[in-house]
Amino acid sequence: MVKGSFILWSNLKTVVLMTGLWKPSSNTKTGRMAQTWILRKSKPPNYKTKGAGCRGCPADPFCYVRWEQAPRQVYKSYKAGKYKAFDMESSDVTLLSNTPLRVGAAGEPTEMPAHHWQPLLQVAGKWTGYTHKWKVPSNLPYRTFCMASVHSVHEMKKANAMGYRTYRVGPEPITKDEIMCPHYTHNVTCDQCNLCMGSAIKAKNIYAPAHGARKNKAKEIQCNT
Ligand code: SF4
Repeated sequence: MVKGSFILWSNLKTVVLMTGLWKPSSNTKTGRMAQTWILRKSKPPNYKTKGAGCRGCPADPFCYVRWEQAPRQVYKSYKAGKYKAFDMESSDVTLLSNTPLRVGAAGEPTEMPAHHWQPLLQVAGKWTGYTHKWKVPSNLPYRTFCMASVHSVHEMKKANAMGYRTYRVGPEPITKDEIMCPHYTHNVTCDQCNLCMGSAIKAKNIYAPAHGARKNKAKEIQCNT
């Protein structure tokens, strides 16, 4: 068994895994956070297959996840039986408490029912969460802990009207309803910042500049929304 790695939930087509509770992984943007992986149960991810709920995602053309790397390794460990089921009645909870959690390091959070996320997030206390499926009416419960990932000011306004806070990457300039992601202004990491916790906190929408290829793809998406 891999210490600090767990199966959170599964159904016939999806499995949700959590890693890094023992040694939270660190990257320059997120800082030290535990990760969740929302994967297709029957297919190892790669650059074509991607994760559960990714089909139809507007960000698919510029998805930043290297599906053939970490997600594929996590999937292999799961298939090899190296992860145990997370138990809310055991010391697993102690490991999770006060460990900032990425709701969907890879894959679409709305694939796991909101009522399975919420108790985990209560224990973790801090998290980041984003969904590209915010337009789906039945996904409204996710607004309490996920930012709506949007790509235009028009989408931002639409998501706000639905009760979501938004995280916008795109070529349009920042608006008065947004603040720039502090990572870009103050080199803050997500584990220190906690602004991307959906409507669980009262704060403005978040704006992040698009760079390079992402910028061009964001423009395309903007034109199509
Ligand atoms: S606003 Fe904060 S939590 Fe959100 S992406 Fe930027 S640094 Fe991370």
